[in-house]
Amino acid sequence: MMSKIVVVGSGVMGRGIAYVSAVGGYEVVLNDIKEEALNSAKKEIESIFAKGVSRGKITGEQSAAAQANLSYATDLKQVVADADLVIEAVPEIASIKRDIFETIDQFAPGHCRFASNTSTMSPTEIGSYTNRPEKTIAMHFFNPVHKMPLIEIIRGLETNDDTVAFIEGVAGKMGKETVVVNEFPGFVTSRMSALVGNEAFYMLQEGLGTPEDIDKAIKLGLNYPMGPFELVDLVGLDARLNNLRYLHEKLGEKYRPAPLLEQYVKAGRLGRKSGKGVYDYTKKPEEAL
Ligand code: NAD
Repeated sequence: MMSKIVVVGSGVMGRGIAYVSAVGGYEVVLNDIKEEALNSAKKEIESIFAKGVSRGKITGEQSAAAQANLSYATDLKQVVADADLVIEAVPEIASIKRDIFETIDQFAPGHCRFASNTSTMSPTEIGSYTNRPEKTIAMHFFNPVHKMPLIEIIRGLETNDDTVAFIEGVAGKMGKETVVVNEFPGFVTSRMSALVGNEAFYMLQEGLGTPEDIDKAIKLGLNYPMGPFELVDLVGLDARLNNLRYLHEKLGEKYRPAPLLEQYVKAGRLGRKSGKGVYDYTKKPEEAL
């Protein structure tokens, strides 16, 4: 029987995770509390499939088979009842994640493993919300999920070797590379990315240059594939601010969020998803996915 993955949260990340899970050959259910989030996820996933076929990344047959195994549902308790893996991708807010893990622990079968796509939070703490911390782990995907090659796997204190091996196997089927790291706030990637992104906001605030100039300097001078402002517009300024607040609390002064970033978030400039972040996307044509 085909293994079943339930992805909880159909936002920026959840929809990409559902796509790579379906392409990996799993039966997939994408869950969200909001019907309209699921509708928008379905549209975007269908367009990623269509582009994948037209660019020769997957065949029409693979796409049809994967889409036939992908469904959308709002009732979490029901869909996890026969799941083998639940991947959580709800907002980076401890109380919301706690609710999800307590619920799935109650309704998922005993063998089912749990992964969180948290950017910063402790998988040990997330495991403690359940009665199966040995089967709980962080599986950190990158945005956009269908393009980025890495999954950073973070084991909690109680996570067992079987679970690590199982998650590495799933990542392989999704066509991803992995690194397995131990737990520390921000892991490797979020910690580094938050620091660089925050520094860019301090530079902008100090009047060092325009966002275009700062991005150009970092891309062409330091050989980064994207500038820090292009990246934060993709990640979401609110998501970045949340990460920085968490890292500031856990790791100290080095991570104090730049006041300009706080101001942009207050103004609703959240990045591509709101039409405007550091850059204004209402004026430029959207880049192809
Ligand atoms: P998002 O806000 O785009 O999506 C979150 C989704 O979760 C929304 O559709 C919301 O309706 C849904 N949701 C909220 N409460 C729910 C509940 N109780 N049950 C089911 N669904 C619920 O968020 P995102 O950017 O996709 O981030 C999700 C997680 O992934 C966060 O932990 C974040 O830190 C992490 N992450 C984000 C990025 C990124 O670039 N955005 C990268 C790596 C990891």
